[in-house]
Amino acid sequence: MIKSHFDYVIVGNGLAGLQLALALSNDDFFKRKQIALIDFDYKINNDKTWSFWEKGNGKWDNIVLQSWTKSVFHTNEQTININFEEYTYKSIRALDFYKEVKSQIEKKDNVNFIIDEVIQLLEEQKVKIICNENTYYADHVFDSRLPKEFFINKKKHTLINQHFKGFIIQTEVHAFNSEVFTMMDYRMQYKETTSFVYILPLTSKRALVEYTFFTPFTVEEKDYDSLLNKYIKEKLNIKQYDILETEMGNIPMTTFPFEKYNTNKITKIGTAGGWVRGSTGYSFKHTEKKVSKIIINLKENKQPSAQLRNNRFKFYDKIFLKVLYDENEKGPWIFKQFYKKNKIETMFRFLDEESSFKEELSIMCSLFSWSFIKAFFKTL
Ligand SMILES: Cc1cc2nc3c(=O)[nH]c(=O)nc-3n(C[C@H](O)[C@H](O)[C@H](O)COP(=O)(O)OP(=O)(O)OC[C@H]3O[C@@H](n4cnc5c(N)ncnc54)[C@H](O)[C@@H]3O)c2cc1C
Repeated sequence: MIKSHFDYVIVGNGLAGLQLALALSNDDFFKRKQIALIDFDYKINNDKTWSFWEKGNGKWDNIVLQSWTKSVFHTNEQTININFEEYTYKSIRALDFYKEVKSQIEKKDNVNFIIDEVIQLLEEQKVKIICNENTYYADHVFDSRLPKEFFINKKKHTLINQHFKGFIIQTEVHAFNSEVFTMMDYRMQYKETTSFVYILPLTSKRALVEYTFFTPFTVEEKDYDSLLNKYIKEKLNIKQYDILETEMGNIPMTTFPFEKYNTNKITKIGTAGGWVRGSTGYSFKHTEKKVSKIIINLKENKQPSAQLRNNRFKFYDKIFLKVLYDENEKGPWIFKQFYKKNKIETMFRFLDEESSFKEELSIMCSLFSWSFIKAFFKTL
């Protein structure tokens, strides 16, 4: 019979939930703790591809689909070649990640997988977890569901949707250089917006080609389709191709104060915890760091969410999102400056929230413009 009381319940077997469960289950400190993961989804489909950068070898190398050390950035006027130096950009299929983490966790007898939908959390002496099928109790809940207020109070905070659709295409001819991925190609913008193509070449005949927007609004699926087809034909000069898989998503790049929804007994994790970097939409590596910090906090008997956010970077993201919101057409210029004027090492350290104030100043100088000055004062 399935237990109903646990020390820790993790709601959501996604990126954050699985990474947290893996870290808890690998640490002897927690070996007497009973842990449950609740998700309504069996996670048996490949719902996304995660990409991230890191130096040298990493902990997911056994499931990395493809990696690159070179990238390219295009506008109509200019092409910038980016050499990653000590960094490598790596991609992982979400399904490989789910399988790998589950296979490691399933070996532990203190972790339980439950298929159910969480409807409500009630903070009593313990946290009562009301699900569709059953009710469970935990001393602490780690929750991947977005707070309801995020959907209600959208207008109160700056929200840029990073929304996209991608095709994994197969060609008959050699159409891609598998050594170089395309970070951003602005040569086929949608109106005057921050919209670009991102390409991950997996072989010389296979690639993920994704049309991405960083905009306050969203578009219909047919708009992505027509832009993708046009780009593949006109910019990649590919006449014939098969679509093997598609990927669609919308990552909130926002100033919403997710951290306010943490309590003594409930910690919001993943996107719901604000772990997606507001200015980029990347969260894979951030998740690793936040999980490590939670483990330390638990061992030190602190609130698990203590010191998870760095306010300095939150402030930078606020300014950046304000510019993108107010002057969305400036996106290509901003990213061009970012990649052209800064060393890749400085940029990655900045995006990883590891940069020094001096490095941050040099990044700010590269973006120095009236738009940023206005946004700076509005944010203050
Ligand atoms: C298509 C796509 C591509 C992305 N690519 C990248 C990338 O390349 N690099 C990067 O760094 N970031 C990327 N991101 C951003 C971010 O890394 C992912 O969104 C990541 O999955 C967020 O992790 P998470 O754990 O918060 O959410 P998820 O991984 O979505 O997990 C949440 C889980 O909670 C479950 N759940 C939700 N509600 C309930 C409920 N009521 N009861 C039970 N279970 C529930 C869901 O079924 C899901 O399994 C991408 C996002 C998307 C959508």
